[in-house]
Amino acid sequence: MAVRPEGFARLQPASAAAVRQLSPALFGLVTLAGRPSLTGCARNCTRRWASVGSVCLLIALFQAVPDAPLIVAANRDERYDRPAVAMTVLRDSAPRILGGRDELAGGTWLAVNDSGVVAGLTNQPSADGRDPSKRSRGELPLAFTAHAGAAQAVEAVCAKLDPADYNPCWMLIGDRQALYSIGLAGAGSAEVEQLGPGLHILENAPLRAGSAKVALVRQLVAQTRSEQPDGGVASTVAALEQVLRIHQPAVPEPRTDDSGRVWPPEISAPCVHTAGYGTRSAMTVVVPLNGLPALRVADGPPCEVPMKEAETVVVPLNGLPALRVADGPPCEVPMREVTGMWDRGPTLRQA
Ligand SMILES: [Zn+2]
Repeated sequence: MAVRPEGFARLQPASAAAVRQLSPALFGLVTLAGRPSLTGCARNCTRRWASVGSVCLLIALFQAVPDAPLIVAANRDERYDRPAVAMTVLRDSAPRILGGRDELAGGTWLAVNDSGVVAGLTNQPSADGRDPSKRSRGELPLAFTAHAGAAQAVEAVCAKLDPADYNPCWMLIGDRQALYSIGLAGAGSAEVEQLGPGLHILENAPLRAGSAKVALVRQLVAQTRSEQPDGGVASTVAALEQVLRIHQPAVPEPRTDDSGRVWPPEISAPCVHTAGYGTRSAMTVVVPLNGLPALRVADGPPCEVPMKEAETVVVPLNGLPALRVADGPPCEVPMREVTGMWDRGPTLRQA
């Protein structure tokens, strides 16, 4: 079952010509059967810190690293008891979309398609939770990544989008050529800003609002990148993943918001741990100059769970599980994807 945001079917003119030939890696897997599962800690939670079907820290390096026009790193913060899958195939083809899946509302917080379009979502924490009369924000990343390019996606989706239909949220939409900030926190039309090359950080607030958390993360990214031996793609991803694991709060004391709710300082750290709410999973995305995006995911807090290539942890949405096997010692024999095993007898192809 492909996830198709209700009401957005008409907004999916992704050109088949623009959808590249898929490799036999993750973007080429057959979409298989859903297995709702909890990611991260399964601690009980009765408090609603927020209504968060979203990433809560979204870091984008746009046209700032040679050979990778767009690199994204994200921590998804959520109640521990909200079921989710950290990585799965969200849509089969034209374009193929990968990302996490919120099993409660059915949407996603961060989606990536095979053309290199990345769409991530943060929202406005609410003491009362989401307004159930409004549409799920989790459909938005899917709507944007249904397009073959970020500019095309922003133009098409925003033309028909009324922010009042959703609880407040903010997004970054990007690909190799362009990066946009989208604000959906009022009535009328979405606030769209095209962003220049450099580092952009989005948390649970408008991009330009600024916050202690954004300032801290900016400082941490600069520091960790400066400690890397070079400015290449791998070392940059390593630096960003290091930031995602940091527990240093941006503010020393609890904060009381306008509604009187008290937020602990731990919420302001990149990696969040509180009694009922915290960082549930993490993801990095590298959109290279050519070829398919590379995704790494931690199916749990990145401080505890190592980041892995997404194809090793993918949980299929429908159908059958995906298997990879080494016919010999895995240190010597490459892992190969098992295909057709369930219906046509086993075959192996080079992964
Ligand atoms: Zn942590």
